[in-house]
Amino acid sequence: MTNPAAPSHKISVSFEFFPPKSDKMEESLWAAVTRLAPLSPSFVSVTYGAGGSTRERTHHTVKRLLNETNLAPAAHLTCVDATKAEVDEVIRQYRDTGVKHFVALRGDSQAGVGGHYEPTPGGYRNGAELVEGLKRIDDFEISVSAYPEKHPESPDFATDIDLLKRKVDNGATRAITQFFFDNDVFERYVERVRRAGIYIPIVPGIVPIHDFVKVARFSAATGATIPAWLAERFEGLEEDPQTRSHVAAAVCAEQVLDLVQRGLSDFHFYTMNRADLVYSICHILGLRGAPAAGQDLPTAPVAA
Ligand code: FAD
Repeated sequence: MTNPAAPSHKISVSFEFFPPKSDKMEESLWAAVTRLAPLSPSFVSVTYGAGGSTRERTHHTVKRLLNETNLAPAAHLTCVDATKAEVDEVIRQYRDTGVKHFVALRGDSQAGVGGHYEPTPGGYRNGAELVEGLKRIDDFEISVSAYPEKHPESPDFATDIDLLKRKVDNGATRAITQFFFDNDVFERYVERVRRAGIYIPIVPGIVPIHDFVKVARFSAATGATIPAWLAERFEGLEEDPQTRSHVAAAVCAEQVLDLVQRGLSDFHFYTMNRADLVYSICHILGLRGAPAAGQDLPTAPVAA
């Protein structure tokens, strides 16, 4: 019998990490990178804290990925709470380090997701303007955000998609979505995007649910819907991490395999700096951990 889940097309994955705050977290990050690297991700991205709060740590992590692995890092960059001159300086520093790929974002103020957004005088006002600024400095590869359930501040889908169109017109070549759990919602969004004349890949952002309570809280802030069936799956498992982890793997595999059945081939995983669930899902997708010919495993030491 053939594997009904086996994709008939080539699967490509990318992984998102966040910059660690402590030596212990740095150790976890590198353990995750070492485990996931042999899956040959098309790129790995490193987030930028709210309001640019992790500027140095993000740069440090991207630099280590560049210098100590064969992975292709993408630096997340936000333009909130900074002037154009300040953001341009950060871009030039990345370029001088060898970074060729950015995930360009407006970002949120340190006040937090959902707080009122005020463009900084003399700053880039949104993701589209940041893409333009990046392209003025160099011919970088640029990924941007997309919101299948629309951005919470957006009055409607048309406004949101119009902004995405401006990002593409300014040079973005890939959009990565906010996480979502209802694949029909994603499919309807992609249809709207295509109707608006946007043809770049819209890569689904997939979040494995390590901690349902945390994901539910974050979903409320970002406007991602938690379907009732999903909440039911995790019901009563608050004190049972082992079952929770099995359920999380099943839920994520179901979502990703359904997207494969719908013809999707690129997936961006929000790893939370953990390899376990992501590695299992990638294995189910048919990716294998053997290093490609000529590809070395990362040789990163644990401490910086
Ligand atoms: P944009 O796409 O520029 O705009 C989003 C919405 O804001 C628009 O739809 C519009 O309604 C409104 N808007 C745009 N311009 C204006 C304006 N001038 N005045 C008022 N409203 C306006 N956040 C981080 O801090 N660091 C990260 O590393 C990070 N990585 C992310 C990666 C992905 C794939 C995604 C999907 C999100 C990420 N975020 C990150 C979250 C993101 O910063 C927030 O969702 C933020 O609120 C919007 O940023 P954006 O680039 O998506 O905004």
